[in-house]
Amino acid sequence: MDDIKALSLEILQSKLMSFGYPRYHARQIFNWIYKKGAVDFAQMSDLAQGLRDKLQENFCISGLEIVDQLKSSDGTKKMLFKLKDFSIVEGVMIPSRGRATGCISTQVGCKFGCRFCASGVSGFKRNLTYLEIIDEVLALKREALPDNLTHLVFMGTGEPLDNYGEVMKAIRIINSVDGLNIGARRITISTSGIIPGIQKLAGEGLQIELSVSLHAADDDLRSSLMPVNKKYSLKELISSCKEYSVKTNRQITFEYILIKGLNSDLKSAQDLVKLLGGWRLAKVNLIPSNPIAELKIEVPERKDILLFKDYLEKQGLNVTLRKERGEDINAACGQLRLGYEKK
Ligand code: SF4
Repeated sequence: MDDIKALSLEILQSKLMSFGYPRYHARQIFNWIYKKGAVDFAQMSDLAQGLRDKLQENFCISGLEIVDQLKSSDGTKKMLFKLKDFSIVEGVMIPSRGRATGCISTQVGCKFGCRFCASGVSGFKRNLTYLEIIDEVLALKREALPDNLTHLVFMGTGEPLDNYGEVMKAIRIINSVDGLNIGARRITISTSGIIPGIQKLAGEGLQIELSVSLHAADDDLRSSLMPVNKKYSLKELISSCKEYSVKTNRQITFEYILIKGLNSDLKSAQDLVKLLGGWRLAKVNLIPSNPIAELKIEVPERKDILLFKDYLEKQGLNVTLRKERGEDINAACGQLRLGYEKK
């Protein structure tokens, strides 16, 4: 049976008319699904029983099964969702002062094999469809209650720009007034640096926030940490990011995971200044790595993290130090799923 979410508002309106009901009910149905999180037509109490029955006969409302869930002491919830083909993906809900941010996966596994990331460990299986992405968002929205899910980050498993078509289809629904109505400036796409995807995104006419996993400002080191750098070099990447920022008038965030003994020394900080210095719309977000035993990743000492940050600031870079959320529940990318698959 077809998932009703696969229908656009216009198609649902004509379906309703073919059933003998007025088209305005389509907006009510969208409202129930996207704003109120209904999972069953029986919940749609302002629709006539006859219409609810008709909907039940013709459509379903798909959803994802939560197979495991962890809640951190800071309120962060990490979930494992089971898809129809039994694949497992992760989603995270991070509450903050009455609002909430959802972190979404876009692929089952990942083909990019970044050295510090647990998501690539079991390889790539498949892309998520736009409906699966929407189902993740709706599940996180329910988990955020009574808070409102106001922000979304595409930072879970997978490279969103490697699943461009489905991600954009999902974003159009997430951004639409009749859908989840989350503004583009509250949606962040995080990429390992897929240049054609960044260029395409710049032409979408949406002010989506772009976050780039940088993690090294020297080509050799970055290529050893992130094999994608062998295809898209730092010079080309930074130039496409500058273009993106000019076209969308948005700041670009460069994520930088600090890993002990690898990219947290003075030379690495100097490289970063050379790469991004003088660019007003660049922000560096330093992330102390989460220790991952399987990947032999170790966190630098706190004093070394602060020294690194101070140096960048003194050289005029705009820097933030991310407070790790959900540390007690293995909230780093791919870690909960790895744990589940090992059970
Ligand atoms: S960091 Fe992103 S692109 Fe790299 S392996 Fe992990 S999920 Fe894939």
